[in-house]
Parts: sequence; C-alpha cells; structure tokens
Amino acid sequence: MRKPLRCRIGWHKWVTRYSDDGTAHYLRCRRCSKEDHEGGHRGVVGF
Ligand SMILES: [Zn+2]
Repeated sequence: MRKPLRCRIGWHKWVTRYSDDGTAHYLRCRRCSKEDHEGGHRGVVGF
C-alpha cells in the first residue's frame, strides 16, 4: 500500500481519537491511519 508523501517524511495529519469507553485518547493520522499511543507530546499537530 502506498503511503502519502508527507507521511513518509513524518508529516502526519494527526487527529484525536477516543477509545470505545471514552476514558483514553490517542492520535491517528487521517491520511495513512497510523496511530500514536504515546500521548501526543511530539508537537506535530497543526499541519
Ligand atoms: Zn500519516
């Protein structure tokens, strides 16, 4: 599966997603569906 160019260089489109019970959240890329469960402290949101 092809990855979008910006995702290949680490420029993901992060959006906040919530777990089924709503007690936890994580980041997920809208373009390539990569998930980040580390808490979203990398400072990459906003592109
Ligand atoms: Zn991505």
